[in-house]
Amino acid sequence: MTEKTLIDCHVHLAALPDGDNGCYISPKMLKSPLFRFLLWKHRLSPDKPREANQKYLEDLLGELRASRHVQQAVLLGMDGVYDGTGRLLQDHTDFLISNDYVLKTARTHPNELLAGVSINPQRRDAVEEVHRVAEAGAVLVKVLPNAQQFNPADRKYIPFYRALAERKLPFLSHVGYEFSLIGKDQSVGDPDRLHTALDEGATVIAAHACSYGLMLYEKFIPTFHEFAKRYPNFYADISALTLPNRLRMLLHLRKHPEVQDRLLFGTDYPLSVFHLAAWGRVGPGTMWKMIRTKNRFDRQVEVCRGLGLGFQSIGDIVAQHSR
Ligand SMILES: [Zn+2]
Repeated sequence: MTEKTLIDCHVHLAALPDGDNGCYISPKMLKSPLFRFLLWKHRLSPDKPREANQKYLEDLLGELRASRHVQQAVLLGMDGVYDGTGRLLQDHTDFLISNDYVLKTARTHPNELLAGVSINPQRRDAVEEVHRVAEAGAVLVKVLPNAQQFNPADRKYIPFYRALAERKLPFLSHVGYEFSLIGKDQSVGDPDRLHTALDEGATVIAAHACSYGLMLYEKFIPTFHEFAKRYPNFYADISALTLPNRLRMLLHLRKHPEVQDRLLFGTDYPLSVFHLAAWGRVGPGTMWKMIRTKNRFDRQVEVCRGLGLGFQSIGDIVAQHSR
């Protein structure tokens, strides 16, 4: 029996607005195929938001408690889009999972859940929000520059990055193409833009190990290796790397043990975990074990370990950096 000590640093909290959870979803998003699919898969009804939100959480807790390897999950929030003066632009925001909802949910289940809040540095009170969430027990700050429409390299965010460094809150940034955002500026998903945060001493975690997510080629591989050499505060999570559109990065990284101490465990729950990457690359016993493992947290562990991809738990690096 392996120890159940891992933390998954990339688990999405989904919630419908229920009148007082501070969450928002645009009419366009409500109608999107991805959203419809998620509702259907989890058998959620959009007409009963409180029940749907509770059901989503219970499904997550059930799978987490049944996992043999994963003890806790960092629940991620999602901030909105802000204008040049730092005011929320609800019309440009597809969905918003509020920090208060993330913090409250994590507090209700302290053995299983940790708070990964989201702060768009463009918002007027970004620095104050960093201090507020740090006091409230958040363990990291997540952003999605493509969706939140800001450029992480912009030097006007230096005070924000300094506050993250001071509070020892890792900055987890989505990297690569974002399918739900066709037509928007995708260049802000380039990991090279994370250098401003790194130079200011913040711990940066590039999501999905810098994979681009378009299957054809992995254009951010040089940036990943360069940052791993240059910055001791640079990490990447392995979430979603077993998806068919990102597995090239997984197959690349398994051949590079020298960078694997920069990789952090994550799944991208509620997305599926595939064993496709392992076909023909592991023995039949290992393959059979992956197929038999239905728990998504455990399957991510089995597929990555089976392919020789080493990783750490975010708990290890948070402990290191706060020493
Ligand atoms: Zn994600």
